[in-house]
Amino acid sequence: MTAPIPAELNPPQRLLLGPGPSMVSPRVLRAMATPLIGHLDPAFLVIMNEVQAMLRAAFQTQNPFTIAISGTGSAGMEAALVNVIQPGDTVIVGVNGVFGTRMADIVGRSGGNLVKLEVPWGQTFTRTAIEEAVKKAGKVKAVALVHAETSTGAQQSIEDLGQLCHDHGALLVVDTVTSLGGIPVTVDAWGADVVYSGTQKCLSCPPGLAPLTVSPRALEVIKARKGKCPSWYLDLGMIADYWAEGKRAYHHTAPISMVYALRESLRIVLEEGLEPRFARHRLHAKALMAGLAALGCAPNAQEGHRLPSLNCVQVPSGIDEAAVRRALLLEFNIEIGGGLGPLAGKVWRVGLMGESSRQDNVVAVLSALEVLLKRAGKVQRPGASVAAALEVYAA
Ligand SMILES: *Cc1c(COP(=O)(O)O)cnc(C)c1O
Repeated sequence: MTAPIPAELNPPQRLLLGPGPSMVSPRVLRAMATPLIGHLDPAFLVIMNEVQAMLRAAFQTQNPFTIAISGTGSAGMEAALVNVIQPGDTVIVGVNGVFGTRMADIVGRSGGNLVKLEVPWGQTFTRTAIEEAVKKAGKVKAVALVHAETSTGAQQSIEDLGQLCHDHGALLVVDTVTSLGGIPVTVDAWGADVVYSGTQKCLSCPPGLAPLTVSPRALEVIKARKGKCPSWYLDLGMIADYWAEGKRAYHHTAPISMVYALRESLRIVLEEGLEPRFARHRLHAKALMAGLAALGCAPNAQEGHRLPSLNCVQVPSGIDEAAVRRALLLEFNIEIGGGLGPLAGKVWRVGLMGESSRQDNVVAVLSALEVLLKRAGKVQRPGASVAAALEVYAA
């Protein structure tokens, strides 16, 4: 068999303002091109320690067990759940979007007794609702919540929930895929037990690793489980032996280049500082939302619970949202996201994550949208949207 050899790789250059991946710093791309060393090389073990220490800082935790799972954010989600759940265990999952739905799916596949806590997409769960669900469910193994629901733009409050779960003998599992590095993730202050993320959102690293941190309490539960974890690849007990200082037993080959990339992206996060980074995400989201409001795009998520890293807005009536998104991509080289599930065709999702969260990007996407909405007859006077964003910057 012969195959025609395609031309050398040369994809278009896009501005990534969708739900991920986000823009990646050239520093991270250069780190990925660093020559490989073996994943058991003593020099690599030093690099792993550095990554672990920086992940602890990003997660705001002292948990010794803080690592990067091989695979994307969903691998982190699966690892978090399949290690904790044994068949028959009751797990309460907050379902208010795509990622809560995915967690619920994994609980079912793991043989857990799934208790779904539901609110309409775009809304969040009150502490009272969670407490009632825990009290009603009897013996609960874990409560699983999505901190930043990328499909709706809603931010779930996690404060105080660790204590609430522990008072009822349950673990708290939190998805921080679209929050880590963009808004405060305070694992120890929350009292959260298993928290995972992904690299390609607010950490601005290519997709491929899932940062994960496990509290000593959760580690005991995982170690005490009867029967093996049903996933060999994501078995945290075995993976722990690779990451544990002094052990470093072979389990699977670490994706070396991705670890290099994560190391550099974490250096960038910590150089900027967590607080300034969060403030930057808030500022640019505020400017973007002001500009989108001037275009007639109302926010989708519950007021007071809107994510700065993922700005989800309703598409003005009479607009073919997919056509606008396509033109944004093909004419302006800007990627944004559309709606999923019940929000399909109804919303746009503009990600301002990590490197993507910048004034020039806000102005670029707003002015391109003005052009396209003028063409669709929705905007009479282009400029109002950019002006609204600039007012936020001037203030
Ligand atoms: C993106 C995302 C995931 C899944 O991550 P993948 O990298 O696509 O596997 C999980 N949870 C949330 C909240 C996400 O935004």
